Amino acid sequence: MQEEILEGMAFIGEEFTPRNVEIVIENGRISEITECKTGSANWIVPAFFNAHTHIADTVGMDTKIDRPLSELVAPPNGLKHRLLRETPPDRLVSAMRDTIAFMKATGTLGFADFREGGTLGVDLLNQAADPSVAMVIFGRDGGEFAATGFGLSSAKGTAGEEESVRLAKAAGKRFAVHAGEAGVRDIEAAFSLEPDLIIHATHFTKEHIREAADRDIPIAICPRSNWLLGATDDARRPPVREMLDAGCRVFLGTDNVMFVSPDMFAEAAFLQTVYKIDSADILRMMTDGFSLLGRRNRIEVGCPADLLLLDGGYPGRWTKDPRTSLFTRIISRGNTISL
Ligand SMILES: [Zn+2]
Repeated sequence: MQEEILEGMAFIGEEFTPRNVEIVIENGRISEITECKTGSANWIVPAFFNAHTHIADTVGMDTKIDRPLSELVAPPNGLKHRLLRETPPDRLVSAMRDTIAFMKATGTLGFADFREGGTLGVDLLNQAADPSVAMVIFGRDGGEFAATGFGLSSAKGTAGEEESVRLAKAAGKRFAVHAGEAGVRDIEAAFSLEPDLIIHATHFTKEHIREAADRDIPIAICPRSNWLLGATDDARRPPVREMLDAGCRVFLGTDNVMFVSPDMFAEAAFLQTVYKIDSADILRMMTDGFSLLGRRNRIEVGCPADLLLLDGGYPGRWTKDPRTSLFTRIISRGNTISL
């Protein structure tokens, strides 16, 4: 049996309550948590799940945003898609590998990616994989049959689209769709396809929020992407507070690596600053995407030890609220450990 012991201030349970503890890990699972006085400056946090990425477009990193959203990212001829087509496969693999390493170094041990480029596209992402970082891959153009599921760019209500979703579901695949990013036009069509995951929901109305909550369809919000790409300039869009109050399952994602760094700390700090969301709610959004893999990631006995070890020395000496300081004060990102 493999046993490890970690000591420090851990963010425990469903409320991520900070406590000084010793955590015993046996065979990759937390077997014991004991409160204790500790001299360690470690802060121990559950690792994050980035619920929406497009990591292949790392190859267009920090391209200038000088045209409308549709001309930048819409398939088949948006700038991003032209770039992806022009990039040789080995460079795509190397770019995706680099981004997975960056995500891991900033605390992410799982992500859900929309992978373009059909079956080959999915294959290239699998080549770039790091076994310690879990992937949920939503393919398209045939790639869905080699992936976890089908990722639709946006619903237009066509018969072809309905048929693609039906075939993917018949093959046991999950279905995710961007909806309500730039406006409300594609939202009804998206709901009618019975998605397992909705991305963005930036312009969801009260009724849409109610529907997502009642049907228990999780929503991956990507606030920095929405601001950068001009989908919003309003701290009530996406309506994060209303979604949480309605009982929606909300996950956090960073969207296109081309424009947004896939750093969950940065996304969380933005959500905290602009949307005034409570840190415990943010931590739930940062970790609940693991449910796409049928997993729960909390610091609790029985949970997997997918943990992040941070240097909490400086905030630890002064903070009145460690959960807030987690996103405002941590500068040393420490190391992500999965035991
Ligand atoms: Zn997206």
